[in-house]
Amino acid sequence: MHEGNKEWNISLLHTLFSDDDCRKITQLPTSIFQREDELFWWPSKLGEYSVKFGYWLGRLGHLEEAESQLTDDDREIWRVVWCSHRPPKLNYFVWKACRGNLVVKELLQHRHIAPDGVCGCCRSEIESVNHALFECAYAKDIWDGSDFVDILIDAPNSSFKTTLLWLSRKLDPIQLTRLLAMAWATWFCRNKRIFANASLSVKYVAVGFVKNVLDYKGYAQKVFNKVSGANPSFASRWNCPPVGMIKINVDAHLAAAGYIGLGAVSRDHHGSLIVDSVRKVSGVWEVDLAEAAAIRYGMQVVVRLGFRKAWVKSDY
Ligand SMILES: [Zn+2]
Repeated sequence: MHEGNKEWNISLLHTLFSDDDCRKITQLPTSIFQREDELFWWPSKLGEYSVKFGYWLGRLGHLEEAESQLTDDDREIWRVVWCSHRPPKLNYFVWKACRGNLVVKELLQHRHIAPDGVCGCCRSEIESVNHALFECAYAKDIWDGSDFVDILIDAPNSSFKTTLLWLSRKLDPIQLTRLLAMAWATWFCRNKRIFANASLSVKYVAVGFVKNVLDYKGYAQKVFNKVSGANPSFASRWNCPPVGMIKINVDAHLAAAGYIGLGAVSRDHHGSLIVDSVRKVSGVWEVDLAEAAAIRYGMQVVVRLGFRKAWVKSDY
């Protein structure tokens, strides 16, 4: 900035940043007060960056530059991973696998953290993401007994992203979710074996993971079908919030087995979806308490995304 009037020094900015960054920097209004500069991360109340906020911004697609650099395959992978009602933790695991960020020996060797990339389980192959999830001996215990054994033989295996992209075109969404839950279980068992020296029954673990993931889909659908306004009269009943505010429709679903599904769907003043989210909590609550928890959950989600003004609508 110019020292005298505290306005942007455009020519200096262009020597330091890309054109896109310069454009964004110069869109920031400068303060009329002569204050010392300080770092401030705007989505956080205290101005401190956290991975959680970065993740949620990325999840919302606010990273325009990153978006503009995506290939068609990247966009398809993004859609396959995030446009689903799978548990967020599973999607995050899948996304990390696609990005090559799962901590396997191949990655550790590449980063000069491990002296070699040999698999910590079988000690006979390079431990890539695909090796850890599909090819290692303990992983084969899961896959060889499943109905995915043939398709996995045919699937390209140069990277997890390539494998997933191919599988997503061959399998229906439920099959794909089941396969990804099994891959997640494989990863869980692998970590237990390497880091806790625990030998689990991988098939038993896989059955549990698949059941939990498919249950999640079931209660998420029950919550979302109510709060997302899937019925035809929704458009005429839904009142837009004023410009600058968002509207959160929340609902709770009381499941039979002592669980409660909390759902929130947030839209802007055009009615465009900003984010939908759902979480499962254990408990046996009265309806009014569950609805109150859904309201609190919806508000927590939008506050986490940096919104400060919202209407909240509950059916209760
Ligand atoms: Zn191995």
